[in-house]
Amino acid sequence: MRCKFCEKPAFIKLHYPKMYLCEEHFREYFERKVKRTIERYKMLKPDERVLVVVSGGKDSAVTAYILKKLGYNIECLHINLGIGEYSEKSESYAKKQCEALGVPLHIVRVKELLGKGIGEVKTRRPTCSYCGLTKRYIFNKFAYDNGFDAVATGHNLDDEASFIFSNMMHWNTQYLAKQGPVTPSQFNGKLVKKVKPLYEVTEREVVAYALANGIEYMMEEC
Ligand code: AMP
Ligand code: ZN
Repeated sequence: MRCKFCEKPAFIKLHYPKMYLCEEHFREYFERKVKRTIERYKMLKPDERVLVVVSGGKDSAVTAYILKKLGYNIECLHINLGIGEYSEKSESYAKKQCEALGVPLHIVRVKELLGKGIGEVKTRRPTCSYCGLTKRYIFNKFAYDNGFDAVATGHNLDDEASFIFSNMMHWNTQYLAKQGPVTPSQFNGKLVKKVKPLYEVTEREVVAYALANGIEYMMEEC
């Protein structure tokens, strides 16, 4: 198959809208789509300082890459969760990604903060829930202490769809009400604005964009 816009061989078949695109036109399509999402939801102003929180995985790596390409003023933060080899590998991917972009990377280590890895903390909550809460607290505190205007995460359309579906199934209406592409700053700026630039692109598109740009990322799950 050939690209819808030129004669080059197709790199990807998009399902919605249905079309074949070559690598170059797919990159253009993806970047235009993310730019439109940022504008539609008024996520970021051009002069704002943005902290991209990078896990070493594809979504946050693509978020940092595209925000930098669109000209935003970004720095990155990685949280080393202290989960053995998994965390060391995640950190080294985050470092590689930020070096390739020429963007400063800050690292917070949970072991230095709590004296133990996230998996060794005893709580009544399930570990994943406690881990998510801890990460969100650290992102926000770091952004607030260092004068950032926004925190950008790598959440994509698939993440949002599964969040909505699972909370609908459990009647978690208060979570559903809070969910969205932008969480505005609250409590006199103590809760820093949170944005999701990949809110309207699918996981499959993110993987393809990473591949098209030679972005290396961690594939293992914790
Ligand atoms: P998750 O809650 O694991 O689905 O991750 C959601 C988003 O949080 C990711 O897209 C990243 O932007 C960010 N994130 C997850 N884990 C980390 C980490 N260890 N360090 C920094 N950011 C992270
Ligand atoms: Zn083309």
